[in-house]
Amino acid sequence: MPKGFDVAIIGAGPAGSSLAIRLATQGYKIALIEEQRFPRDKLCGEFISPECINHFQELGISERIKFHGGAFLQETVFYSPSGVAFSVPSSWFGGVAFGLSRAIMDNELLRRAIELKIDVLTETHITDFSFSRNRIERLTLKRKEQLEEIKASIFVDATGRRRYVIKKLKQIKGVPEAKRKEKRLVAFKAHLLGAKPSEETCEIYFYDGGYGGLSSIENGLCNLCFIVREDQARVFGGDALRLMREVVCSNGRAKMTLKNAEIVSTWHSTTLQSFGYSSPADAENLFAVGDAAAFVDPFTGSGILIALESSKLLSQVIREYGISTDLTSLKRAYMQACRAKFDRRFRYCSLLRFFAFSSPLFVELAAFLFSKSPQLWLKSIAQLTRAS
Ligand SMILES: Cc1cc2nc3c(=O)[nH]c(=O)nc-3n(C[C@H](O)[C@H](O)[C@H](O)COP(=O)(O)OP(=O)(O)OC[C@H]3O[C@@H](n4cnc5c(N)ncnc54)[C@H](O)[C@@H]3O)c2cc1C
Repeated sequence: MPKGFDVAIIGAGPAGSSLAIRLATQGYKIALIEEQRFPRDKLCGEFISPECINHFQELGISERIKFHGGAFLQETVFYSPSGVAFSVPSSWFGGVAFGLSRAIMDNELLRRAIELKIDVLTETHITDFSFSRNRIERLTLKRKEQLEEIKASIFVDATGRRRYVIKKLKQIKGVPEAKRKEKRLVAFKAHLLGAKPSEETCEIYFYDGGYGGLSSIENGLCNLCFIVREDQARVFGGDALRLMREVVCSNGRAKMTLKNAEIVSTWHSTTLQSFGYSSPADAENLFAVGDAAAFVDPFTGSGILIALESSKLLSQVIREYGISTDLTSLKRAYMQACRAKFDRRFRYCSLLRFFAFSSPLFVELAAFLFSKSPQLWLKSIAQLTRAS
């Protein structure tokens, strides 16, 4: 007999785990399925924007997050290729930002889910779907070489940009994924010792082809995460260290702060292609949260926030509509809530991304204007990346 749940959530990143916690506290029976073993590292700038702290409080993990001794980040300073700088204080987003490795943050969310007696299945792989009348009926899972089946009223794809469940379902139904036109980018990240960003500052370096972010995290380490065009990555044979030295450090400020940096973790890399909303899930009882629903440009430092916010929206809609009746209305209400919260934000972010990647000359000009512009003006632009 398959084990039955109200909601089965696939993926235990911030979106999946936070949704599991919120729904469990509303009394729902939840399965949280994750293919990796935690704690696990994650490619990310590891900049936790100030608004996330309220979510952590609601989720019951704010004290634990602080306990790990991450870094307080009072401002983000953006450096153009030639070194023109402008600063965006974290207080414009309602407090202080935080630098902490994703291995720790995501693990604390997962620990909280386990405490709430949620069925957390890590190192678990989906091997099959049973799908009928436009609904997912069951999942077959493989865990420690054992197969098991689970049923749920609602399934949630929280597998990040991979969108595993949504894509699998499209394959089953023979629906092609919409092709995106954006250029392919490649992102890299590692932890460093001996890098020297300014105190309590996240630094963003622009260079031809992309940008990189450096900020302190726990244990005296720094996190470096950078993005280059795919053709640049190819020229250096995908060698992250050479890309750091030759592409990222073509920015004078990065060259200074990374001069004595030593890599103390493995490099992680991933390709990026699409930003903004993704095509919706093709089943009445399948929902998406976090990056699986929409991906925001990393330099806004708000991906984790959107993951937490989208989960909160879904939990609120579920509280209002319940899960036993008309899922079409539930889905419509969730889509409307997402549109109302994120539409403007994504529009502004895609505009900023267009300019950031258009030409180094334009980045220079924009940095010059921002560095000279009145604070109020810059503040309004920065806050548009969080607009509702
Ligand atoms: C280069 C880069 C830098 C970034 N920097 C920042 C930053 O500094 N600050 C910020 O706020 N955001 C940043 N982001 C965005 C942020 O990382 C994401 O928005 C956030 O991780 C989304 O959370 P999520 O839970 O939706 O997905 P994820 O964090 O990707 O979690 C998905 C989970 O699903 C699991 N999973 C995947 N497939 C399966 C499967 N088939 N079965 C079971 N489990 C599965 C994965 O193992 C993972 O644990 C950055 C993103 C990139 C690409």
